[in-house]
Amino acid sequence: MGFESFGQISFAAQTKVGDFVDYLRKGELRGTKCQECGRIFFPPRADCPWCPGSVLEWVKIEGTGKLVSFTRVHYGPTGFENDTPYTLALADFNGVKVFGRITKELVEEKTNIGMALKAVAVTLPGGQLTYELIPA
Ligand SMILES: [Zn+2]
Repeated sequence: MGFESFGQISFAAQTKVGDFVDYLRKGELRGTKCQECGRIFFPPRADCPWCPGSVLEWVKIEGTGKLVSFTRVHYGPTGFENDTPYTLALADFNGVKVFGRITKELVEEKTNIGMALKAVAVTLPGGQLTYELIPA
């Protein structure tokens, strides 16, 4: 299976970072790290924009992140209309910024900037794979 298994709605069947989905299936959220300059990318990139001829390796996004920012979505884009409301967030995992949804189980009133979050793989109804942020 390729990248079509990623997300509630997948917009691409093939990418150079298709292994991302295989790692999600194993319960791992991964980005890529440039072996030349050490930068870590999330979402993963297959090529480093700073190092021509770069070699990237997969690295786990693990441990505890901190919530940097979030917004509550009340009007979803095409394909997500029936999923609202939900919360999109940016979390910092030791300098690696992870953008994603916060679990619906965390109510808005208890969502606070700076709170500790973990990133976890999620299998959606229908078998699609994604990830979300949950309180640590
Ligand atoms: Zn690089």
